[in-house]
Amino acid sequence: MFSPPRRAVALAAALVAPLLAVSACSSSGGDDGAVDVLASFYPLQVVAQEVGGDRVDVGSLTPPGAEPHDVELSPAQVASVDGADLVVYQSGFQPAVDDALAQASPEHVVDATDVADLTTLRADEDADGHTEDDGHDHDGPDPHFWLDPTRMPAVVDAVADALTEIDPDGAETYRANAEALNARFAALDEAYTTGLATCEQRVFVTSHEAFGYLAQRYGLEQVGISGIDPESEPSPARLREVGEIVDAEGVTTIFFETLASPKVAQTLAADLGVEAAVLDPIEGLADDSQDYFSIAEANLDALRVALSCS
Ligand SMILES: [Zn+2]
Repeated sequence: MFSPPRRAVALAAALVAPLLAVSACSSSGGDDGAVDVLASFYPLQVVAQEVGGDRVDVGSLTPPGAEPHDVELSPAQVASVDGADLVVYQSGFQPAVDDALAQASPEHVVDATDVADLTTLRADEDADGHTEDDGHDHDGPDPHFWLDPTRMPAVVDAVADALTEIDPDGAETYRANAEALNARFAALDEAYTTGLATCEQRVFVTSHEAFGYLAQRYGLEQVGISGIDPESEPSPARLREVGEIVDAEGVTTIFFETLASPKVAQTLAADLGVEAAVLDPIEGLADDSQDYFSIAEANLDALRVALSCS
């Protein structure tokens, strides 16, 4: 039996322990010595996790399975931005994350917009005769760089550099992990280049315009039903226009995605008598048995079927 004073000590310890755990979570570095990294959405989380390996704890500001464009942050998430050792985000993509960073001062930040060579692709698409339409209300550069694997290594290297600054003992690990990850992106690019080299079609129709960089890289043409923002509703005029393109180009398939509603794309495909299939913009994981690379490979297979590639 414990004597009463010891019981009091044990009780006090039990009360204090959760408080210690909470403060350890919010303090820089955590109690396990790992570097606390906060990524703003899935592809950046992949980069941070793969480069950091066992030396980092990576959290994401976008919940698994959520669509990242219009993410909203809880007060606790906003606070976590301030406490992170490194924040990896993409300015101009998620307004709530931009706001949180404007109020916080994490010691190290990697902004993918600064390193991923973003451009405004929509102007190119307008140049080939498709009329301006009202669904495209996004003024900044196209954010969806992660769908072109050749744009990822610059972000990988920036994350490796930032982690090395925070945790110099891990320098060799971060460099080796970055090189291994970049080799996987290079292999993926090779698979896309080969797989999409000889196709009967070059035009593909998607729900929202996430695949502009991919199209540019592999010589395809994306026709988005909605604009760059998956939440924007296409106008009847836009739906008619897409229908005309489908007829004129002999498009076999209208693609929908996993995190946004497939209804518009599926209805349009049914109306036009063409297939509907998944092309995933890899903005988050709808199914956690998948990952960036397995989804990218499934996307390649889906494009090869839809475009009749040999
Ligand atoms: Zn998107």
